[in-house]
Amino acid sequence: MPVIFEFLLVAGLIYLWESALWLPRQGVALRRRLFNGKWRVISATRLLATRDLGVVLMLPFPPDVGLAPAAGLPLIAVPERKIFMATPEGIFRETTFVSWDDIRYSEHHLRIGSSSIRCQSPRTIELLQNGKKRGLSPAMAIQRSWILSLSPSRAKREMKRWKIASFPLRFYCPALTVGFFLGLPVAYLYLGPLPTLWIGAWLWILMFSISRQLFRLAKHLYPAARAELRMDALLSLLIPFHAMRAMELASVHAYACTHPAAILLASGQTSHPWLRQFIRETVTPRPSHPGDAAFRDFATPLLVEILGKRNLSICRFLEAPDKSGDPEAASWCPRCHGLFLPGVSICYDCGGLQLRNFD
Ligand SMILES: [Zn+2]
Repeated sequence: MPVIFEFLLVAGLIYLWESALWLPRQGVALRRRLFNGKWRVISATRLLATRDLGVVLMLPFPPDVGLAPAAGLPLIAVPERKIFMATPEGIFRETTFVSWDDIRYSEHHLRIGSSSIRCQSPRTIELLQNGKKRGLSPAMAIQRSWILSLSPSRAKREMKRWKIASFPLRFYCPALTVGFFLGLPVAYLYLGPLPTLWIGAWLWILMFSISRQLFRLAKHLYPAARAELRMDALLSLLIPFHAMRAMELASVHAYACTHPAAILLASGQTSHPWLRQFIRETVTPRPSHPGDAAFRDFATPLLVEILGKRNLSICRFLEAPDKSGDPEAASWCPRCHGLFLPGVSICYDCGGLQLRNFD
C-alpha cells in the first residue's frame, strides 16, 4: 500500500476517535434535525458505556452544528435540608451532606462526602457556585440552579450565545478537515512537495485560528471551564484531528448548565416524546425510590409554573396512553405508559407503582 494511503488510514482512525463525545452516563445529547428543526434525544448509554461515561457519535463531517449535549444538575434538595445526588443510572440517592465544605468538584467529578458523580463540565456546577457567592445555603443554591437550568428563556439565551460564539468554528473546522483529507493528498500526488508544504502551512494557520477562538471562549464566555477550554486550545494547536472537532468538544461546556427539557420548551416542541416522559417521571415517583418523591415535591410546582406561562396545563402531559394497538388492556402505568391486562395492579418496572384503570 502506498505510504500516502497508509497515512490516510491511520489519520482516519484517529479522526473517528476524536469524533466520539464521551458524556456522563446519566446525560443525554440533543441533535437538531437539519430540515425540520426537530430535536432528537440521544442517550449517552445507547451505543457504548463504561461505569460512569457513555459515548455519543458526532456526525461524520464537521461541524455537527445541531448538537447540544445538555446535562442538568445531578443534585436535588428538599426543604428538610436533605440533599440527593444522582447515580450514573439516574437514581437520586440521599447524601451524607453537612455543609458547603462537603461539596467539591475535582477530577471531572462532583463529590459530596463519599458520594461522587461524573460531570459534563465544571460549568455544570457554575450556577451552584454562583448561589454560594450570593450567600445562599446549599439547598437553596441547588433549588436556584434547577430553576435557572429548567428556564426556557435562559436556555434560549444560552443557545443564541453559543450560536454567535461558535460562528467562526463552523467555517474553520470543515475547512481544516477538507484541507487535511483532500487537499494534502491531492497536492502530494499531483503537485509535488512544495505546494504540499504550502497547504500544510495554511492548515496550521487554521488550527491556530481554532485554538485562538477556544482561548477567547475560555477568557470571555465560559470562565468556569477555563482550564478545560485552554487544554482543548493547546491540543488544537498541536493535533489537527482535535482541532477538526473543536466546536463539538466546546459545546459540552456551552450546554453544561442547561436542562434538555428547557431546550425543548424553548424551541416550542412541547409534544416531544422525551419531554412528555420527563414530566410523567417527575410527577409520578417510584414508591421504592425516595429520591423520586423528593424531586416530585420540588420540581412539579416549578414545571406547572413554566408550562402555565406557555398556556399549557401539566394535565396534558399526564393523559392515558393510546390503547388502540392493545384493545384488551385494562390498566396503564402513569410513569412508563406500559399497558396491562385485567388482574394486574402494579408496575414492577416502575418500582411497584399503582396502575390506573382505563375508563
Ligand atoms: Zn411503569
